[in-house]
Amino acid sequence: MAKIFCVANQKGGVGKTTSAVNLAAGLAKVGQRVLLVDLDPQGNATMGSGVDKRQLELSVYDVLLESASIQEAAIFSEKCGYHVLGANRELAGAEVELVDLERRDQRLKLALEVVQQDFDFVLIDCPPSLSMLTLNGLCAAHGVIVPMQCEYFALEGLTDLVNTIKQVHANLNPDLKIIGLLRVMFDPRITLQQQVSEQLKSHFGDKVFNTVIPRNVRLAEAPSYGLPGVVFDPSAKGSQAFVEFAKELVQRIPTL
Ligand code: ATP
Ligand code: MG
Repeated sequence: MAKIFCVANQKGGVGKTTSAVNLAAGLAKVGQRVLLVDLDPQGNATMGSGVDKRQLELSVYDVLLESASIQEAAIFSEKCGYHVLGANRELAGAEVELVDLERRDQRLKLALEVVQQDFDFVLIDCPPSLSMLTLNGLCAAHGVIVPMQCEYFALEGLTDLVNTIKQVHANLNPDLKIIGLLRVMFDPRITLQQQVSEQLKSHFGDKVFNTVIPRNVRLAEAPSYGLPGVVFDPSAKGSQAFVEFAKELVQRIPTL
Protein backbone atom coordinates (compact mmCIF):
# COMPACT_ATOMS: atom_id res chain seq x y z
CA MET A 1 0.00 0.00 0.00
CA ALA A 2 1.26 3.41 -0.96
CA LYS A 3 2.34 5.87 1.69
CA ILE A 4 0.73 9.19 0.82
CA PHE A 5 2.47 12.39 1.90
CA CYS A 6 1.65 16.03 1.29
CA VAL A 7 4.50 18.45 0.86
CA ALA A 8 2.93 21.53 2.39
CA ASN A 9 3.63 24.89 3.95
CA GLN A 10 1.23 27.78 3.52
CA LYS A 11 4.17 30.12 3.06
CA GLY A 12 5.09 30.78 -0.56
CA GLY A 13 8.48 30.09 -2.06
CA VAL A 14 9.86 28.02 0.81
CA GLY A 15 10.91 25.08 -1.36
CA LYS A 16 7.81 22.85 -1.45
CA THR A 17 7.98 22.06 -5.15
CA THR A 18 11.76 21.65 -5.17
CA SER A 19 11.39 19.23 -2.27
CA ALA A 20 8.51 17.33 -3.88
CA VAL A 21 10.18 16.76 -7.26
CA ASN A 22 13.60 15.96 -5.84
CA LEU A 23 12.22 13.64 -3.20
CA ALA A 24 10.20 11.90 -5.93
CA ALA A 25 13.35 11.53 -8.04
CA GLY A 26 15.39 10.42 -5.01
CA LEU A 27 12.82 7.78 -4.06
CA ALA A 28 12.69 6.55 -7.65
CA LYS A 29 16.47 6.35 -7.64
CA VAL A 30 16.44 4.04 -4.62
CA GLY A 31 13.93 1.75 -6.31
CA GLN A 32 10.59 3.05 -5.05
CA ARG A 33 7.50 3.32 -7.25
CA VAL A 34 6.42 6.95 -7.01
CA LEU A 35 3.45 9.04 -8.08
CA LEU A 36 3.88 12.81 -7.83
CA VAL A 37 0.59 14.71 -7.70
CA ASP A 38 0.77 18.39 -8.62
CA LEU A 39 -2.00 20.19 -6.72
CA ASP A 40 -0.81 23.67 -7.62
CA PRO A 41 -2.32 25.51 -10.63
CA GLN A 42 1.17 27.01 -11.16
CA GLY A 43 2.11 23.55 -12.48
CA ASN A 44 5.73 23.90 -11.37
CA ALA A 45 6.06 20.31 -10.19
CA THR A 46 4.66 19.16 -13.54
CA MET A 47 7.13 21.22 -15.59
CA GLY A 48 9.95 20.36 -13.21
CA SER A 49 9.31 16.68 -13.88
CA GLY A 50 9.67 17.02 -17.64
CA VAL A 51 5.94 17.10 -18.38
CA ASP A 52 4.66 20.09 -20.37
CA LYS A 53 1.70 21.53 -18.47
CA ARG A 54 0.39 23.23 -21.64
CA GLN A 55 0.02 19.90 -23.41
CA LEU A 56 -1.77 17.89 -20.73
CA GLU A 57 -4.75 16.06 -22.15
CA LEU A 58 -5.90 15.05 -18.69
CA SER A 59 -4.76 16.47 -15.39
CA VAL A 60 -5.46 16.41 -11.68
CA TYR A 61 -8.33 18.78 -12.48
CA ASP A 62 -10.17 16.00 -14.35
CA VAL A 63 -9.46 13.62 -11.48
CA LEU A 64 -10.89 16.03 -8.88
CA LEU A 65 -14.01 16.51 -10.99
CA GLU A 66 -14.25 12.75 -11.45
CA SER A 67 -14.10 12.90 -15.22
CA ALA A 68 -10.90 10.82 -15.35
CA SER A 69 -9.13 8.24 -13.20
CA ILE A 70 -5.53 8.57 -12.05
CA GLN A 71 -4.58 5.64 -14.29
CA GLU A 72 -5.89 7.62 -17.25
CA ALA A 73 -4.44 10.97 -16.29
CA ALA A 74 -1.00 10.16 -14.81
CA ILE A 75 2.01 10.25 -17.12
CA PHE A 76 5.24 8.33 -16.60
CA SER A 77 8.23 10.65 -16.87
CA GLU A 78 10.94 8.50 -18.46
CA LYS A 79 13.68 10.94 -17.56
CA CYS A 80 12.67 11.17 -13.92
CA GLY A 81 11.58 7.60 -13.27
CA TYR A 82 8.26 8.41 -11.64
CA HIS A 83 4.63 9.03 -12.56
CA VAL A 84 3.22 12.55 -12.62
CA LEU A 85 -0.39 13.58 -12.20
CA GLY A 86 0.00 17.01 -13.71
CA ALA A 87 -1.63 20.38 -13.16
CA ASN A 88 -2.02 23.62 -15.03
CA ARG A 89 -4.05 26.83 -14.81
CA GLU A 90 -7.27 24.94 -15.36
CA LEU A 91 -6.92 23.68 -11.80
CA ALA A 92 -7.55 27.17 -10.43
CA GLY A 93 -11.18 26.73 -11.58
CA ALA A 94 -11.58 23.54 -9.58
CA GLU A 95 -11.62 25.55 -6.38
CA VAL A 96 -14.89 27.18 -7.42
CA GLU A 97 -16.37 24.19 -9.23
CA LEU A 98 -15.90 21.91 -6.24
CA VAL A 99 -17.78 24.18 -3.86
CA ASP A 100 -21.23 22.80 -4.68
CA LEU A 101 -20.22 19.19 -5.12
CA GLU A 102 -20.55 16.34 -2.69
CA ARG A 103 -17.48 15.02 -0.88
CA ARG A 104 -15.61 17.96 -2.32
CA ASP A 105 -12.69 17.58 0.09
CA GLN A 106 -12.42 13.80 -0.43
CA ARG A 107 -12.06 13.71 -4.21
CA LEU A 108 -8.32 13.06 -4.31
CA LYS A 109 -8.52 10.51 -1.51
CA LEU A 110 -11.14 8.47 -3.37
CA ALA A 111 -9.20 8.63 -6.62
CA LEU A 112 -5.99 7.47 -4.92
CA GLU A 113 -7.69 4.45 -3.34
CA VAL A 114 -7.77 2.81 -6.75
CA VAL A 115 -4.00 3.08 -7.29
CA GLN A 116 -2.84 2.27 -3.74
CA GLN A 117 -1.21 -0.96 -4.88
CA ASP A 118 0.58 0.54 -7.86
CA PHE A 119 2.92 2.79 -5.88
CA ASP A 120 5.12 2.75 -2.80
CA PHE A 121 4.90 6.52 -2.36
CA VAL A 122 2.47 9.21 -3.44
CA LEU A 123 3.80 12.74 -2.97
CA ILE A 124 1.42 15.68 -3.24
CA ASP A 125 2.86 19.10 -4.02
CA CYS A 126 0.47 21.59 -2.40
CA PRO A 127 -0.05 25.24 -3.34
CA PRO A 128 1.00 27.99 -0.91
CA SER A 129 -2.40 28.39 0.71
CA LEU A 130 -4.81 26.46 2.87
CA SER A 131 -7.36 26.19 0.07
CA MET A 132 -9.82 23.49 -1.03
CA LEU A 133 -6.99 22.05 -3.13
CA THR A 134 -4.67 21.76 -0.15
CA LEU A 135 -7.56 20.36 1.88
CA ASN A 136 -7.99 17.61 -0.72
CA GLY A 137 -4.31 16.83 -0.29
CA LEU A 138 -4.54 16.77 3.51
CA CYS A 139 -7.64 14.56 3.45
CA ALA A 140 -5.91 12.08 1.15
CA ALA A 141 -2.60 11.87 3.02
CA HIS A 142 -1.15 9.82 5.84
CA GLY A 143 1.08 12.69 6.75
CA VAL A 144 2.69 15.98 5.92
CA ILE A 145 6.27 16.78 5.09
CA VAL A 146 6.95 20.44 5.86
CA PRO A 147 9.87 22.07 4.08
CA MET A 148 11.08 25.16 5.86
CA GLN A 149 13.83 27.70 5.78
CA CYS A 150 15.56 28.38 9.05
CA GLU A 151 14.64 32.03 9.23
CA TYR A 152 13.39 34.36 11.87
CA PHE A 153 9.64 33.86 11.38
CA ALA A 154 9.88 30.15 10.59
CA LEU A 155 8.36 28.89 13.83
CA GLU A 156 5.64 31.51 13.82
CA GLY A 157 4.67 30.57 10.27
CA LEU A 158 4.28 26.97 11.32
CA THR A 159 1.48 27.70 13.77
CA ASP A 160 -1.20 28.09 11.10
CA LEU A 161 -0.17 24.89 9.38
CA VAL A 162 0.01 22.92 12.62
CA ASN A 163 -3.48 24.17 13.59
CA THR A 164 -4.89 23.23 10.19
CA ILE A 165 -3.36 19.78 10.43
CA LYS A 166 -4.90 19.37 13.91
CA GLN A 167 -8.32 20.38 12.62
CA VAL A 168 -8.17 18.07 9.63
CA HIS A 169 -6.96 15.30 11.91
CA ALA A 170 -9.86 15.86 14.31
CA ASN A 171 -12.64 16.29 11.75
CA LEU A 172 -11.77 14.83 8.42
CA ASN A 173 -8.75 12.54 8.40
CA PRO A 174 -7.75 10.74 11.62
CA ASP A 175 -4.64 9.34 9.88
CA LEU A 176 -3.10 12.72 9.30
CA LYS A 177 0.03 13.75 11.16
CA ILE A 178 3.22 15.68 10.68
CA ILE A 179 5.78 13.25 9.32
CA GLY A 180 8.58 15.71 9.68
CA LEU A 181 10.08 19.11 9.15
CA LEU A 182 12.67 19.34 6.41
CA ARG A 183 15.25 22.09 6.71
CA VAL A 184 15.84 23.45 3.21
CA MET A 185 17.98 26.12 1.52
CA PHE A 186 20.23 25.81 4.54
CA ASP A 187 23.40 27.86 4.75
CA PRO A 188 25.51 26.81 7.76
CA ARG A 189 27.60 29.98 7.52
CA ILE A 190 24.63 32.03 8.63
CA THR A 191 24.48 32.04 12.44
CA LEU A 192 20.77 32.83 12.52
CA GLN A 193 20.03 29.73 10.46
CA GLN A 194 22.01 27.58 12.89
CA GLN A 195 20.10 29.12 15.80
CA VAL A 196 16.69 28.59 14.23
CA SER A 197 17.70 25.04 13.31
CA GLU A 198 18.55 24.35 16.97
CA GLN A 199 15.26 25.92 18.06
CA LEU A 200 13.40 23.67 15.65
CA LYS A 201 15.11 20.60 17.06
CA SER A 202 14.42 21.52 20.66
CA HIS A 203 10.79 22.33 19.85
CA PHE A 204 9.95 19.43 17.53
CA GLY A 205 12.53 16.78 18.52
CA ASP A 206 12.68 13.81 16.19
CA LYS A 207 9.98 15.36 14.00
CA VAL A 208 12.88 17.24 12.43
CA PHE A 209 14.48 15.13 9.70
CA ASN A 210 18.19 14.46 10.13
CA THR A 211 18.90 15.29 6.53
CA VAL A 212 19.42 18.98 5.80
CA ILE A 213 19.04 20.33 2.25
CA PRO A 214 21.70 22.96 1.52
CA ARG A 215 21.17 26.06 -0.57
CA ASN A 216 22.49 24.89 -3.90
CA VAL A 217 22.26 26.71 -7.22
CA ARG A 218 22.03 23.45 -9.22
CA LEU A 219 18.66 22.74 -7.55
CA ALA A 220 17.45 26.17 -8.66
CA GLU A 221 18.76 25.75 -12.22
CA ALA A 222 17.31 22.28 -12.81
CA PRO A 223 13.64 23.32 -13.36
CA SER A 224 14.59 25.40 -16.40
CA TYR A 225 15.76 22.13 -17.96
CA GLY A 226 12.51 20.43 -16.95
CA LEU A 227 14.28 18.15 -14.50
CA PRO A 228 14.66 17.66 -10.76
CA GLY A 229 18.19 18.51 -9.57
CA VAL A 230 18.64 14.86 -8.60
CA VAL A 231 18.36 13.94 -12.30
CA PHE A 232 19.90 17.09 -13.80
CA ASP A 233 23.11 16.96 -11.76
CA PRO A 234 23.27 13.94 -9.46
CA SER A 235 26.68 14.95 -8.14
CA ALA A 236 25.54 18.35 -6.83
CA LYS A 237 25.47 18.71 -3.04
CA GLY A 238 21.75 19.50 -3.06
CA SER A 239 20.95 16.46 -5.20
CA GLN A 240 22.95 14.17 -2.95
CA ALA A 241 21.10 15.58 0.04
CA PHE A 242 17.74 14.74 -1.54
CA VAL A 243 18.81 11.16 -2.22
CA GLU A 244 19.92 10.93 1.43
CA PHE A 245 16.55 12.33 2.44
CA ALA A 246 14.76 9.72 0.33
CA LYS A 247 16.72 6.99 2.12
CA GLU A 248 15.95 8.51 5.52
CA LEU A 249 12.24 8.59 4.69
CA VAL A 250 12.23 4.96 3.53
CA GLN A 251 13.94 3.98 6.80
CA ARG A 252 11.41 5.93 8.85
CA ILE A 253 8.37 4.29 7.31
CA PRO A 254 8.21 1.32 9.71
CA THR A 255 8.27 3.72 12.70
CA LEU A 256 5.46 5.93 11.44
P1 ATP B 1 5.33 28.20 -4.13
O1 ATP B 1 4.86 28.57 -2.76
O2 ATP B 1 5.28 29.33 -5.11
O3 ATP B 1 4.72 26.94 -4.65
P2 ATP B 1 7.56 26.61 -3.32
O4 ATP B 1 7.38 26.57 -1.85
O5 ATP B 1 7.09 25.43 -4.09
O6 ATP B 1 6.93 27.92 -3.95
P3 ATP B 1 10.00 26.38 -4.77
O7 ATP B 1 9.37 26.78 -6.05
O8 ATP B 1 10.38 24.98 -4.59
O9 ATP B 1 9.11 26.86 -3.56
O10 ATP B 1 11.31 27.24 -4.49
C1 ATP B 1 11.30 28.66 -4.50
C2 ATP B 1 12.59 29.13 -5.18
O11 ATP B 1 13.72 28.72 -4.41
C3 ATP B 1 12.78 28.54 -6.56
O12 ATP B 1 13.37 29.51 -7.38
C4 ATP B 1 13.74 27.38 -6.32
O13 ATP B 1 14.53 27.08 -7.45
C5 ATP B 1 14.60 27.92 -5.19
N1 ATP B 1 15.12 26.84 -4.32
C6 ATP B 1 14.42 25.91 -3.67
N2 ATP B 1 15.20 25.09 -2.94
C7 ATP B 1 16.47 25.53 -3.14
C8 ATP B 1 17.76 25.13 -2.65
N3 ATP B 1 17.90 24.11 -1.80
N4 ATP B 1 18.84 25.82 -3.08
C9 ATP B 1 18.70 26.87 -3.93
N5 ATP B 1 17.54 27.31 -4.41
C10 ATP B 1 16.43 26.66 -4.03
MG1 MG C 1 5.45 25.25 -5.38
